[in-house]
Amino acid sequence: MTFPIDKLQTIRTPFYYYDTELLDATLRAIKSETDKHAGYHLHYAVKACANPKVLRHITAAGMGADCVSGGEIEACLKAGFPADEIVFAGVGKCDWEIELGLKVGIQYFNVESIPELEVINEIAGRMNKVAQVSFRINPNVDAHTHSNITTGLAENKFGIAMEDMEKIIRLADSLPNVNFVGLHFHIGSQILDMDNFVALSHRINELQDRLEAEGITEVKNINVGGGLGIDYENPDGHPIPDFKAYFDTYAKHLKLRPGQHLHFELGRAVVGQCGSLVTRCLYVKQGSTKKFVIVDAGMTELIRPALYNAYHKVENLTSKAPAETYDVVGPICESSDTFVKDYQMPGTQRGDLLAIRSAGAYGEIMASQYNCRPIPTGYVSEDNTSTFKTQHVDF
Ligand SMILES: *Cc1c(COP(=O)(O)O)cnc(C)c1O
Repeated sequence: MTFPIDKLQTIRTPFYYYDTELLDATLRAIKSETDKHAGYHLHYAVKACANPKVLRHITAAGMGADCVSGGEIEACLKAGFPADEIVFAGVGKCDWEIELGLKVGIQYFNVESIPELEVINEIAGRMNKVAQVSFRINPNVDAHTHSNITTGLAENKFGIAMEDMEKIIRLADSLPNVNFVGLHFHIGSQILDMDNFVALSHRINELQDRLEAEGITEVKNINVGGGLGIDYENPDGHPIPDFKAYFDTYAKHLKLRPGQHLHFELGRAVVGQCGSLVTRCLYVKQGSTKKFVIVDAGMTELIRPALYNAYHKVENLTSKAPAETYDVVGPICESSDTFVKDYQMPGTQRGDLLAIRSAGAYGEIMASQYNCRPIPTGYVSEDNTSTFKTQHVDF
């Protein structure tokens, strides 16, 4: 991504900045790969980033949306996503969220349990509607990713156990206000080894064979969720993920039935690299053995390092001084409020502008008000300087 430094210097830090040229290039790369395969369609996973300006670029590229809450459905409708391009997952959907989905006419619900199916049937009945339902099956595929973001193992809270698949499909057939339209899977996040998607494909092939043997042949959609990772170590080397390898893996290994659609729910891979958290160095503090760069952003703006021990590259946008070694830390009253440790970076001083890279996904949307901090603003490349909140401190 590119940084218009003069422009960014005038904005009050910390803030999120999205390079929408890179976002659009990423969206074009996805489109050119999915267009090569009949019936492939992407529902962007809104939970990665729901910034309204980012959402508008994604809907303009013709993608649908994958939502996990009523609030996300509302954000998508506001950004211009057609309701019938929205799918809705989540283990704990509230009644009002189900009602909202039915009222606006979403494409389908990704249902995660038998009690949820019964409640959707009841609410749809009350509203004189038929809910389109797809079942999230837990494929017991280990994505070998961080324990907090692996979702496909048998003991996970997500999805329906494989052994209950036929039971829930037959139950749906017996209920008047739900219509079974597909199977849904999602095995985890930040997955870079394509073997994981191969394993998922093989599992889906087995399950489809099993259904056919049971006489269940009408499965309109297969939805394989998301999970494709990005290069956090080298964002400039790999600004756009290898979508060709990703989609070709499914094309090669997943046996779709004639006319069957394949849905994807990528989040991180779509928006991760186009966003940075821009922050300023407040102080450089010499500790007894280390030097700390204390910045004005913290775990309240980007929680991934504290929550998942995640690495984000930190770039000093304004210094070309010889490298030194620092811990880059935030101002929050928690020791885990550290971005990087023992990190080589150009000599840094008070007032320098720093970019915490690859923060477009699970960044701005996870911001909190802990310590009574304001939620950061997100800007995009095309934003007019007159809308900037200006720097309140003169460095
Ligand atoms: C989080 C999530 C996604 C997106 O995951 P990424 O790793 O960001 O691609 C897709 N589908 C479901 C059901 C999810 O929970």
